[in-house]
Amino acid sequence: MSFDLLGLSDALLKAIDKKGYTTPSPIQEKAIPPILDKKDVLASAQTGTGKTAGFTLPILELLSQKHYDRRRPIRALILTPTRELAAQILDNVKAYSEFVDIRSMVIFGGVNATPQIRGLRNGVDILVATPGRLLDLHEQKALSLGKVEVLVLDEADRMLDMGFKRDINKILALLPTKRQNLLFSATFSKEIKKLAHGILNNPIAVEAAPENTTAEKVNQKMYRVDKAKKTEVAIKLISEGNWKQVLIFTRTKHGANRLSEKLVKNGITSAAIHGNKSQGARTKALSGFKQNKIRVLVATDIAARGLDIPLLPHVINYELPNISEDYVHRIGRTGRAGASGEAISLVSEEEVSYVRGIEKLLGLTIEKEVIDGYEPSFSFNNAATNQGSDKRSTQKPKRSNRNYSRGRRRK
Ligand code: AMP
Repeated sequence: MSFDLLGLSDALLKAIDKKGYTTPSPIQEKAIPPILDKKDVLASAQTGTGKTAGFTLPILELLSQKHYDRRRPIRALILTPTRELAAQILDNVKAYSEFVDIRSMVIFGGVNATPQIRGLRNGVDILVATPGRLLDLHEQKALSLGKVEVLVLDEADRMLDMGFKRDINKILALLPTKRQNLLFSATFSKEIKKLAHGILNNPIAVEAAPENTTAEKVNQKMYRVDKAKKTEVAIKLISEGNWKQVLIFTRTKHGANRLSEKLVKNGITSAAIHGNKSQGARTKALSGFKQNKIRVLVATDIAARGLDIPLLPHVINYELPNISEDYVHRIGRTGRAGASGEAISLVSEEEVSYVRGIEKLLGLTIEKEVIDGYEPSFSFNNAATNQGSDKRSTQKPKRSNRNYSRGRRRK
């Protein structure tokens, strides 16, 4: 299918062409027509599926059909959980709106509000916002939401995880009751369904590829290792494998800092990215990583969520997440767009119980190995969970690149 058939104007097609996209992604193909029909949409899609263009393009199409001579009211509100995501969405909106007369801006916390207030005064058609700062500025009467025609809740599941439910409800109360609602979420817990039910009117449900399709493209492996040896193992894998761009996940902010410092001490350029870092530090770390100036980015789940890091070759789970869905999000950072990627998990005795949940969710048994010289003091069987193979690797990690095999689908 080509973009021409989706009902978008020439001005938008020109911007799409300039971005270099030739065909719509599945979520774009499915979501754009109902959004153009002004229907509410409930979309199951995670980062990497092209979901941002999936809602931005039709919104631009709808908004650009009507012009305001006087000060522009906010007609589309895009709510998203993190500053990084908000900034990324605005980049997309700006790129796609290059040839239409639509003004957009972003507001998020952690930075001076004055320039944001000044920007809002000039009139904005599309506002991308994190919930807290939006409410702050509304309270200061710096913006009005009374003319919003389209509401987007992006990464709705993560907004709930981050405790934004009350803020979202407050924001909903400030919007006109008659409006179009689009809800994007990677997972559908009971809470998300409840939220969707309360917001959406006869929604059209659209779905990108099921989550584990991403997972199947990724070579996954688990190394059984004692907790105290994890840093050494991570350094060994990165150095001996000569890995150039590695995303490492830790469970805690302190853990991210500690590991990043140790990597730097061992001559591996690294930066940590998490909620306690200033906006400036996070942006700098991310751009350094994207430009290959920093070899390793150590991140917590929330900080990494939604970051657009294309074609990442290596992901290391320094610690496994206790929520299985987070594992899927993490490894979704690699193996994109047909490129091969690998996801390595370092599993200590305390984490063995998470393995079963992850494998159940994926419907896969993930290969488990031990690295020579780093034999742990426990076995998966003793830790009472292993269902997969647990064989000893005789290869050095340096060479093991070629030997990472795909997880096997369980019958
Ligand atoms: P998203 O899931 O919205 O974060 O998008 C993930 C990445 O896919 C971004 O780098 C987009 O620029 C890119 N992208 C979005 N739509 C397309 C498309 N139709 N063809 C190729 N790349 C795309």
